[in-house]
Amino acid sequence: MRAVSSAAGSSPVAGTSIVRWRRKKRHRSTIFLPRIGSPKVCGSWHERFAESPDVLKSTRRERTLVPVLDFEIGGGEFITMAGPCSVETETQLMATAHHVRCAGARVLRGGAFKPRSSPYSFQGLGLEGLKLLARARGETGLAVVTEVMSESDVSLVAEYADILQIGSRSMENFALLEAAARSGRPILLKRGMVATVADLLRSAQCVLENGNPNVILCERGIRTFENSLRNTFDAATIALLKQVSHLPVIADPSHAAGRRELVPPLARIAIAAGADGLLVEVHPDPDTAWSDGEQSLDFQAFDEMMADLKPWLAARGSALQCVVEAVG
Ligand code: PEP
Ligand code: MN
Repeated sequence: MRAVSSAAGSSPVAGTSIVRWRRKKRHRSTIFLPRIGSPKVCGSWHERFAESPDVLKSTRRERTLVPVLDFEIGGGEFITMAGPCSVETETQLMATAHHVRCAGARVLRGGAFKPRSSPYSFQGLGLEGLKLLARARGETGLAVVTEVMSESDVSLVAEYADILQIGSRSMENFALLEAAARSGRPILLKRGMVATVADLLRSAQCVLENGNPNVILCERGIRTFENSLRNTFDAATIALLKQVSHLPVIADPSHAAGRRELVPPLARIAIAAGADGLLVEVHPDPDTAWSDGEQSLDFQAFDEMMADLKPWLAARGSALQCVVEAVG
């Protein structure tokens, strides 16, 4: 929209001019997406996030590209991480790994140590699960991301995983963050369910402070008064993180929605908001999954989502290209 002043003298009130709003004409078939990581970000963000200076863009920083096996996260390639919530059996994991690989995923996700709200729920296969993940990597070439819940498990999980996931419930476990940082593995840092952006960035700062620059931020939904869905997907935070931080940002539409039918639309929103990739739960038979089945896609739904996302990624065009951006 733009304001247009009327010709002098056409206002009924002397000495004033009428301002009318005219809609800008745009070609119907063109999709306009927001600029991602606009170079003009006001300096006040630096004040607001002053406790996490190293994660903010500055005039000297390029975007962080996190190296994983033979690819990078945060560069030109949109990275999909997919797999079951929990590693359950060899058959379940291998079938899923092969399937998501063929559909274009780069990273296999799967929990071996599971943070569960109930102590009576399945807690994960532990070491056996890690071994299965490593075997799946061997068979498919996918990188592996899996959660580490305890400081004492860091060296074990780092032996098997390419990326260490710090879960929502652990985002502010600073002893765990320090130990995970020192493992040298890239860290997928999930936003705590009641964490502000400043809280998330402070935790990322803690990892950087401990000598590990390879942090991937993850928006996975937060708790709000809205309770129709499992969480409230905070797409604005993806856009904000891309504006203020040089770290890659991944969106987890599965835990945000809690409902499988909402995963593809939230994935589209994540792309438009500027995410560098997705973390999606996929299971061969979601209704029998040992955890988070209601939000897991089956193979066909995953294939359909991956195909549907292509034009959205194309529309976003070169916005994800690695560029030097100065702000503030
Ligand atoms: C998960 O990725 O399966 C998980 C438990 O995630 P979150 O920590 O976001 O709840
Ligand atoms: Mn899960």
